[in-house]
Amino acid sequence: MSVVSHRNTCRLCDSSNVELVVNLKPIPLSENYSTDRSVALSAARFPVDVYMCADCGHVQHLDVIDPKVLWDSYTYYSGEAKGMPEHFQQVSENILRKCEPPPGSLVVDIGSNDGSLLKPFKHAGFRVLGVDPATEAARRANEADIPTFQSLMTADLARGIGEEHGPAHVVCAFNVFAHADDLGEMVDCVRTMLHPDGLFFFEAQYLLDILDGVLIATIFHEHMSHHSVTPLTKFLDRHGLELIAAERARVQHGSLIGVVQLKGGRRPVEASVNSLLALEADRRLGEVQTLRDFNTRVGQLREKTAGLVAKLKKEGAQIAGYGAARSGPTLIAQLGLAGAIDYIVDDHPQKVGKFETGDGILVVPTAHLYERMPDYTIILAWVHANKIIDANQEYLKRGGRFVVLCPETRVVSKDGDVKI
Ligand SMILES: [Zn+2]
Repeated sequence: MSVVSHRNTCRLCDSSNVELVVNLKPIPLSENYSTDRSVALSAARFPVDVYMCADCGHVQHLDVIDPKVLWDSYTYYSGEAKGMPEHFQQVSENILRKCEPPPGSLVVDIGSNDGSLLKPFKHAGFRVLGVDPATEAARRANEADIPTFQSLMTADLARGIGEEHGPAHVVCAFNVFAHADDLGEMVDCVRTMLHPDGLFFFEAQYLLDILDGVLIATIFHEHMSHHSVTPLTKFLDRHGLELIAAERARVQHGSLIGVVQLKGGRRPVEASVNSLLALEADRRLGEVQTLRDFNTRVGQLREKTAGLVAKLKKEGAQIAGYGAARSGPTLIAQLGLAGAIDYIVDDHPQKVGKFETGDGILVVPTAHLYERMPDYTIILAWVHANKIIDANQEYLKRGGRFVVLCPETRVVSKDGDVKI
C-alpha cells in the first residue's frame, strides 16, 4: 500500500454512491515536527476532502492514509490532554453504572492509547486489556501496568483475546471509532469479544456539532468518519449489533457516545436513540445539500480569516500561533494562515525547538508570548481557547490580542471581543 489510497465506496454500507461535499486543502500528517526546517517544509500533503454516502448518509474521508504511517510516530497521549483523565474517570463510572459487569470481569479498550481510560477500571478491580498500534503510547501503557497489545484490532487478535481471557463484559472504542478505515472489521471484532450480557461503548465527534460549530479544526487524516446516529444504527444492525443508547457529550466541543449490545440482547432500546434519529431528520443531516451548505460556510470563514491576517501582515504586525496542536496544520491550511504566523508557542518538550511540518513554523516556549509580545496570537489549540485566554490576561493587559478561529473569527483584546 502506498501512503495514501483512495476508496470508492462508503465505509459503512459499501455503496459506491458517494459524493464529494466539502472541498478542503490537502494537509500534512498532523503530528509531525522536524529539527530541519527544509524537511518540515517539504513534507508531503494528503487530501482531507469530505464525502457523503447518498445511500446511508455517512459522512467520511475516502483518502485513507496507511495506518502504519499514521500511527507509528503518533505523539498524542490521552493522559496528557487537558481534561481527559477527568473525562475518562467520569466515563468509566457511567459505563459501570450502565453495564453492571460482575466483579473482576474483562474490560477491553480498542485504541487504548496510554491506557488512560482503562486505569479507573483497573482501580475498580476489573481485568483490563488495551489494544493500540501506536508504539510509544502502547509502551507507556504497559509501563503503567495496563496490559496492552501494540497492534491494530484484527479478527485474529479478537479471537486470541477471547481464547486467553474469556468474553469481555465491556468493550470500548473511545479514541478510535472515527479512526478506523475498516469499521466493519472493528465491530466484527467487538462482536467476537463481547459477552452475551456485555456492552460496547464508543465515542466519536458528532457530525451535528461539527456542522453547527464549523469545527474544521477536527477534520484531519485520523478522523476518517464524522459520525451520526442514522447511518450507524443500520450499519450496526448489519453486523449483528444493536444501538441501545446514544448521548451527546461536551468533550472536544461535542461528541456522541453510543452504547451497543449484541442483536437480540436483553436490554431495551432507550429513548435517546429515537430522539437523536428525530433530531437528525429534522436537521436534514442525511442530505447532501446540508453538507454543501457547510462547505459554503467554511469558504466564508476562510475568506474572512485570510483577509484579516493579510491586512495585519501588511500593517507589519507580528503574529504568533498558540499551541502546537493536532488541529494546527488543519487550521493553517483551511483558513489561509500559511506564511502569516512567525512562530508557535507551546511548552511540549517533544515539540519545542522543532519546526511544524508543512509550514515550517518554529515552536518556541510559551514564555516568548511575554518576551516578544507578538501583536496578535492566533489560537491553534482551538479546544482550549477560553483557558488560554484566561491564563494569559497579562498578555492582553500589555496590549496583546488573541485571535479565536471557530465557529467565527474574533479578535480578543483588553477592550473586549470583536467579530470579524
Ligand atoms: Zn453508506
